[in-house]
Amino acid sequence: MSERSAAGGEAVSEFELSCATCGGTLSRTAVSGDTLGVAVEREVVLAECVDCGERYFPRETLDELT
Ligand SMILES: [Zn+2]
Repeated sequence: MSERSAAGGEAVSEFELSCATCGGTLSRTAVSGDTLGVAVEREVVLAECVDCGERYFPRETLDELT
């Protein structure tokens, strides 16, 4: 495992990672909270695998949902 060292401690974006399930590319997308079944009326940003459809929530999105 190689860990990226970012100057200034900037976190690596979820969108730059690969799908943990199939290794596919993650695409930035936005869906309504209603679609996700969460109590958020506006759209939330998440990373969705273009191959298997697995969804990953960026830290910033999780912070908004909680
Ligand atoms: Zn995948």
